[in-house]
Amino acid sequence: MLSDLQVLLVFSLDFKIIADAYEKMTKTSSRIELTNILVDVLKATDSSVIAKVAYLTQGKLYPDFEGVVLGMAEKTVAKALERAYGAKLPEIQVLLRKTGDLGDVASIISNDKVQQALFSEKLTVEKVYSTLDAIAKSFGVGSIEARITRLAALLTAASNVEAKFLTRFVTGKLRLGVADYTVLDALAIAFTGNKENRKKLEKAYNLTSDLGFVAQLLSSKGLAAVNSVKVTVGKPIRPMLAERMESSEAIIQQMGGDAVAEYKLDGERVQAHRTGDGQISLFSRRLEKITSHYQDIVLSLKSIRAKEFIVEGEAVALDKEGKYLPFQELMHRRRKYGVEEAMKKYPASFNLFDILFVDGKEMIDETYAKRRSTLEEMLARSKGIDRLKVLVVPGRKVTDPEQIDSMLQEALAAGCEGLVVKDVRSPYRAGAREFAWIKFKPEYRSNVRDTLDLVIVGASHGMGRRAGRYGTFLLAAYDKDHDIFHTTTKIGTGFTDRDLENISKTLQKLKILEKSPRVNAKVSPDEWFEPSVVIEVIASEITLSPIYTAGLGLIRPESGFALRFPKFTGKIRTDKAPEDATTVQELLEMYQKQVRQFRAETESKAQEVPQMEKKEGVNRGEQISKKKSKITRLVLP
Ligand code: ATP
Repeated sequence: MLSDLQVLLVFSLDFKIIADAYEKMTKTSSRIELTNILVDVLKATDSSVIAKVAYLTQGKLYPDFEGVVLGMAEKTVAKALERAYGAKLPEIQVLLRKTGDLGDVASIISNDKVQQALFSEKLTVEKVYSTLDAIAKSFGVGSIEARITRLAALLTAASNVEAKFLTRFVTGKLRLGVADYTVLDALAIAFTGNKENRKKLEKAYNLTSDLGFVAQLLSSKGLAAVNSVKVTVGKPIRPMLAERMESSEAIIQQMGGDAVAEYKLDGERVQAHRTGDGQISLFSRRLEKITSHYQDIVLSLKSIRAKEFIVEGEAVALDKEGKYLPFQELMHRRRKYGVEEAMKKYPASFNLFDILFVDGKEMIDETYAKRRSTLEEMLARSKGIDRLKVLVVPGRKVTDPEQIDSMLQEALAAGCEGLVVKDVRSPYRAGAREFAWIKFKPEYRSNVRDTLDLVIVGASHGMGRRAGRYGTFLLAAYDKDHDIFHTTTKIGTGFTDRDLENISKTLQKLKILEKSPRVNAKVSPDEWFEPSVVIEVIASEITLSPIYTAGLGLIRPESGFALRFPKFTGKIRTDKAPEDATTVQELLEMYQKQVRQFRAETESKAQEVPQMEKKEGVNRGEQISKKKSKITRLVLP
């Protein structure tokens, strides 16, 4: 049976109904309810506009890779409000100070009843979308005035709920908490009646990175059409990711003796697409268009002898002698202005490690061995290419642990982070983190912990020197199955004054009044944020704590994973979306590894005890009880 909401939408694509659903979404703190509201909206939306509804609900007009961002300054939007409602700017400013949200101001000063009586024409989703699209695409002289006029016209025809969400949308503050996996869940429920089908939808999404496209295909042609989605040159493929392992022996065992080890370069992952018309586009790890950052790489790629291709590799900055420089140096290239200058100062090389499409042939289902040889052959026949700029990442067949260890030393000496060992039989698994690729860094072998990439979900104000600024941040790990961020630590160490200033500035734009429905926490910081900023941290140990929710109950009832002595490494992972953060599953694996290491150490020490007793006359009972007291921190799963 159709709900009231559905009946209304079948007859009209009134934007008010979408706005009312948004209002409900902002009032819920439950992700299940959020999904259900979205299910109702999607079920009722005609397939001709469902892509637009999917983008709008995420605060976008297009998938990220199109690079269209509609960010109007609050000042400009305030002028549109002034024009639409006749309110004076000082009045708007007073209300803004009071409410802290221009959307709320719009809702207050737009008088619903007057608007409805004056304007019989209702706002439709199409009308809203096409106006916002025109605003996003207006640039140059007179564009600010044109934007104000267009927005004012929309606002004049809007009810107060519509005005609120239109205003939030154009200022980039819609923030409904509807992330990719929530949309996929909702689509699966709405059109197949079974949430389990999310996996099938996810596969199509991984190949196209376009939720609107998947939504439209599913609602118009059904699941079978979604299942047969292919790679499209020009639409980025979500990257295949690596698992980590702690020893070369374990890696060889996992790979069944048939693997290739490649250098793990420390740069920026780039996916390059060349369409039939010769156009080359570059995409980052989080699928943003970054073509303008690497014009030198684009130029070099033009010499590749293939009409169409999708290749993947690591862009790495080079010093004057052509040696690899660390990741931080490359980040100088990520700028809007002075790109030319940065290009000369920090030349980059493009080190290819995969090919996903070439001249009409999809390569993702081919084995790694086949893909690597295709890549090598393609480069070999590209005679005019600058081989110092575009090259294939060094890789060698490895059949025993010694070969991996010696290659690791070689890679480190060349300035790399470690190795990525690849299963030669594996296809390219878009968007998946599996053991077909295993990363191996020196940190994994020793007691020094590997870094974690965690999401800032909250912060509390500082004291003393940090008064007036944030002193500690609440960090969370990601749970992909439920699309939820679970808290795992508070952190206040490792930040320079400049770091704090930068991070606080970014967080200002992400402030939300209540905890996001996508965050699960038992603690309450002073401020909550939309999960967005990912930072790299290091810790001495993973422990268990009743305060945190990551892995709650996995090891011990009522306790989750916590970090002991967490410290910021200085790296803000701008290359990672919050959904790319360290997962709860990874925390569990790290914890289990720690337990294994501790057991091995304890056993080897226990064997030394009789000798020590003889030598130093130590009381054995005392020694064992000391060890036991340490063991209680590590509970076995
Ligand atoms: P990390 O934080 O360790 O860079 P990540 O989460 O960004 O990891 P992973 O899949 O876990 O990504 O590790 C592989 C990453 O290493 C890739 O995303 C890529 O940027 C980089 N890399 C460098 N060299 C290679 C290579 N030869 N093959 C695959 N990835 C490589």
